[in-house]
Amino acid sequence: MGVLVRFDFAELPVRGALVRLDQAWLDWWQRLGLDGVERAMLGEATAALPLLAANLKFRGRMNLQMQGGAHLSLLVAQIDHQLQLRSMLQTTEGPVPGAWAQAVAGAQCAVLVDPESGMDRYQAIVEAGGASLAADIEGYFAQSEQLATRVWLASDEAVATGLLVQRLPGDSDDTDGFETVAMLADTLADGELLATEPDALLHRLFSTVGLRQHDTRDVTLTCRCSRERIGTLLLSLGEEDVEALLAEQGRVEAACEFCGRAYVYEADDARALFVAAQAEPPSQTKH
Ligand SMILES: [Zn+2]
Repeated sequence: MGVLVRFDFAELPVRGALVRLDQAWLDWWQRLGLDGVERAMLGEATAALPLLAANLKFRGRMNLQMQGGAHLSLLVAQIDHQLQLRSMLQTTEGPVPGAWAQAVAGAQCAVLVDPESGMDRYQAIVEAGGASLAADIEGYFAQSEQLATRVWLASDEAVATGLLVQRLPGDSDDTDGFETVAMLADTLADGELLATEPDALLHRLFSTVGLRQHDTRDVTLTCRCSRERIGTLLLSLGEEDVEALLAEQGRVEAACEFCGRAYVYEADDARALFVAAQAEPPSQTKH
């Protein structure tokens, strides 16, 4: 489990959020079998999503997606309004450079907001390739929401964590309050974000400027994949391709791209999917 703490200030037009994932993060990267630079990058992206979603006002999902980078071919982190989070990363051949700008050079990066109903989904392009993912996310807020924002992200094998401070919408005249809070947050020492529990950290940074801590919500790292969803995937491949796989391997094995969980369809099970689908055509209802 992880936590997302939201806060603001009695006298200053600034809001913020702090996320901390510990055991859940450890379980997640171990299941994905990541290490080194790749684990560090996924950790930061995973911690970034609860910060992006901290002030979401609707039911639905939010994605951060980067693809086609020189070394990072795909990075996806996804969260919903219940703060259920999942993330994955794929790299091209060879070692990934530790410098963020180099690793993501050439990547297309976007934030996709996908409300369940009542609103259209929208996508905002993020300029990738700044000094860090945190810097790229600051750029996203500046560009797409015109909100001055600072973000700090950190991860190691035990913790993925992040801090966001942001000028309140509609208070664009007051820059001093935001600068004050950002300056205090900039006193974070190397490793302090990783080493300190949320309550203690917020108190240390902001207790002198009227910190008001709000709700603390649980964040879970969990995958929504299921045997049923993989079955739908096989149906969409088509009977011919599935038969080709069966001829080659005797059965169909598919792994979830997020969590790596393996699903096996024996030949009879795979064929039964198509029989059932023909008996009962899929609903045309669009979700
Ligand atoms: Zn999964």
